[in-house]
Amino acid sequence: MAEPTKPVDRHAFQIAIICALEKESKTADAFLEEHFDSADYGKEEGDRNIYTLGRIASYNVVLVHLPGPGKTVAATAATSLGFSFRNIKLALVVGVCGGVPKIHEGKAIVLGDIIISTGLVQYDMGRQYPTKRIKIDDIGRDLPRPTTEILAFLAKLKSDRDELKTETAAHLDALLQEKSFEGSQFPGAHQDKLFQPTYHHKHHQMEVCNAMYVKCGPYSTCDDSRKMTCGELCCAEENLVAWRPPGAATETETPNIHFGRIASGDLVMKSGEHRDEIAIQEQIIAFETEGAGVWEKFNCVVIKGVGHYADSHKNKVWQPYARATAVACTKACLKLWVGSDPEAGRRNERGGQYFYMTGEHNLAAQLGRGAFNNQQHDGAFYQGAGARYNKSA
Ligand SMILES: [Zn+2]
Ligand SMILES: [Zn+2]
Repeated sequence: MAEPTKPVDRHAFQIAIICALEKESKTADAFLEEHFDSADYGKEEGDRNIYTLGRIASYNVVLVHLPGPGKTVAATAATSLGFSFRNIKLALVVGVCGGVPKIHEGKAIVLGDIIISTGLVQYDMGRQYPTKRIKIDDIGRDLPRPTTEILAFLAKLKSDRDELKTETAAHLDALLQEKSFEGSQFPGAHQDKLFQPTYHHKHHQMEVCNAMYVKCGPYSTCDDSRKMTCGELCCAEENLVAWRPPGAATETETPNIHFGRIASGDLVMKSGEHRDEIAIQEQIIAFETEGAGVWEKFNCVVIKGVGHYADSHKNKVWQPYARATAVACTKACLKLWVGSDPEAGRRNERGGQYFYMTGEHNLAAQLGRGAFNNQQHDGAFYQGAGARYNKSA
């Protein structure tokens, strides 16, 4: 393969890595082998995205920094990305997700493992009933099927899973040796705590709950308890599930990579019971909040580290490590991507065939007419153990 040269213009970028949080972007940034000055390449008028441009292996990569989590934010950013970088062939949504604790294809999904999407389902496209349960069985709306190119890529990743795992481990080791990633080390198997789905994160004795209005009780939780740790609330370890069975990663093993459907939506899952119910209904193995938004404009692959179990005990102990595993796996995946001729996009543009953008070729018009209903999504929703809250998680 010829030595990579500095890209001539924006058409020479075929890979986009989209990260929801600044910490995720920073982790991904650490893997760029060369940086290009964004000012040299510009962007379309009206594009408010912030990009870092660089190279991984022989690929020119656009790193997209989302201003926050959520499907709507991701959709808006993806629209702008598509206008400024018209030759993106592969969009990777990278970060941390909530894993469904189950045995998938013979291996337990545990914290620190990596999930690669083979399909996305919008689990929050349903109805809210007075029973506070989201009914999605007849409305759960799958997003369009991946393109042939993406399906071929996924098939290759799956068939080369062992190589992918080995490469991921090597990249992870290299990353964790860097001084700036001292805080991203493996937290230890003893920190992998999975509670029974029916055991909620709350004050476990009514008398210690000082809430003015809704107090912690058999069927309710107070607002304060949601901001507290399991230690502060004395969530009892006798309610832990014996998880991390043989075959799951330990201190000395490398994270497992699981391929499967991911639930994607603005509703941040924080309920073990709802998690398990949706996992069965929709045959999904993880929850995340950006993929569905990106998918509205790009066929994408979601690569996320399991940072929590999508229940009310969700905490941030595993997030730095999960971020690192996802980014390490992303780099390993890129090695297996077969890119096409960067000139192809320019030829398509001359022929008037923008590859996937439909409708108006005008970013301001697209965003201005509220294509993604920004006004309806001021904050993310999340499903708690007993109620639904309108609040960023
Ligand atoms: Zn309470
Ligand atoms: Zn707890």
